[in-house]
Amino acid sequence: MSYSASTSRYDSMTYNRSGRSGLKLPAISLGLWHNFGGIDTFENGRTMLKRAFDLGITHFDLANNYGPPPGSAEEMFGKMLKGDLAAYRDELIISTKAGYYMWPGPYGEWGSKKNLIASLDQSLKRMQVDYVDIFYHHRPDPNTPLEETMAALHQIVQQGKALYVGISNYKPEEAKEASRILKRLGTPCVIHQPSYSMMNRWIEDGLQDVLEEEGIGSIAFSPLFKGILTDRYLNGIAPDSRAASSSVFLKESDINEERISKVRQLNTLAAERGQKMSQMALAWVLRGGRVTSALIGASKVSQIEDAVDALKIATFTQEELDLIDGILNA
Ligand code: NDP
Repeated sequence: MSYSASTSRYDSMTYNRSGRSGLKLPAISLGLWHNFGGIDTFENGRTMLKRAFDLGITHFDLANNYGPPPGSAEEMFGKMLKGDLAAYRDELIISTKAGYYMWPGPYGEWGSKKNLIASLDQSLKRMQVDYVDIFYHHRPDPNTPLEETMAALHQIVQQGKALYVGISNYKPEEAKEASRILKRLGTPCVIHQPSYSMMNRWIEDGLQDVLEEEGIGSIAFSPLFKGILTDRYLNGIAPDSRAASSSVFLKESDINEERISKVRQLNTLAAERGQKMSQMALAWVLRGGRVTSALIGASKVSQIEDAVDALKIATFTQEELDLIDGILNA
C-alpha cells in the first residue's frame, strides 16, 4: 500500500531557525550514517524514515560516503524517497556532504572544486533528486585554499544543485574565515555540523561564539555519543548494538567503566526528571537554544520515538545543570 503521511505530523515537533537564515530545522533530525547502508535491512530503514516523517522530522542527513559500502546510504535513501516520500519532497530538508575519501586518485576527497562538484553530481544521481537542500564541505582541507572550496559551494548554489550550504568539523577560526568568504560571494553559510554531546563539549570553547556572531546555525552530530549516552550499555554490550557491530567508529573498548559509571549516575538523574537517559542527553544538547537541531542516529523505530519525546521535558533547573556538570567533570 502506498504511504500517506500522518496528518498530525506537525503537531508536536519544534522547528528552530538555523542562525539568521530563513531555514527552519526540526529540533530532532535523523542521520543515515549507520543502519541505512547496503549491508542493512532495507525495510527497517524504510520504516524508520516514514515514522520519523510522521513525527515531524523533516530533515534527513546523508554524506557521499555513508554506507557501508560507501554511497549505499544515498542509494537506499533514493529508493525510499521514490517509493514513499517523493510526494512530500517540498516538506523535506535533505543534506549531503563531500570531503572524506570517496574514490581513488587525487580528486576523490578533501576540498578541491573538482572533488566537491563531482561528488555532489554523484550524490544527486544516487539519491535520484535534482537538488539537495543543504550541501556541506565535510571537513577542512589544509592543502586547498579556503577560497576555492567556498567558491565551489557558491557555484553549487548558483547552479541550483543545493539551496543552502554548510560546513562540518571546522574549528572556530576556520569557520569564521569560511563564513566571511561565503558572505563576500553572496552565499551565506547557514549551518555548521559539529560533534557535540555531554561527553564531547569542544564547541563550547569558541565555536558557538563564532557561529552566533556570524549568524550561522548548528546541528549537533552524535548527540548520544554514538549510543553511549543511552541505557544501551548499562548492563553490558548487547549483540545488536553498534559497539558489538562491525562499525569501526564505536568499539567494545569505547564502552569502559569510567564512562558507564557516569552514564549510570546521569541515568538516575534522568529518571528523577521522568526521562530516559537518551532523552535527557538530547534535551541537554538543545538547552538554552544555542543548537538548532540534534542530529541523531537510530537502529530502531522506538529510538526515534524516544528522541522526539525528549522535547516534552526540555528544560533544566540550574541545580540539574550543576549536577550534570559535577558528574561529567568528576
Ligand atoms: P547518536 O549519538 O545519536 O548515536 C546513535 C545511536 O545511539 C543509534 O544508532 C543507537 O545505537 C543509539 N540510540 C539512539 N537512540 C537510542 C535510544 N533511545 N536508546 C538506546 N540507544 C539509542 O548519533 P550518530 O553517531 O549515529 O550520528 C548521527 C548522525 O550524525 C549520523 O547519522 C550522521 O548523519 C551525522 N554524523 C556526521 C558526522 C560528520 O562528520 N559531519 C560524523 C558522524 C555522524 P544502536 O545502533 O546501538 O542501537
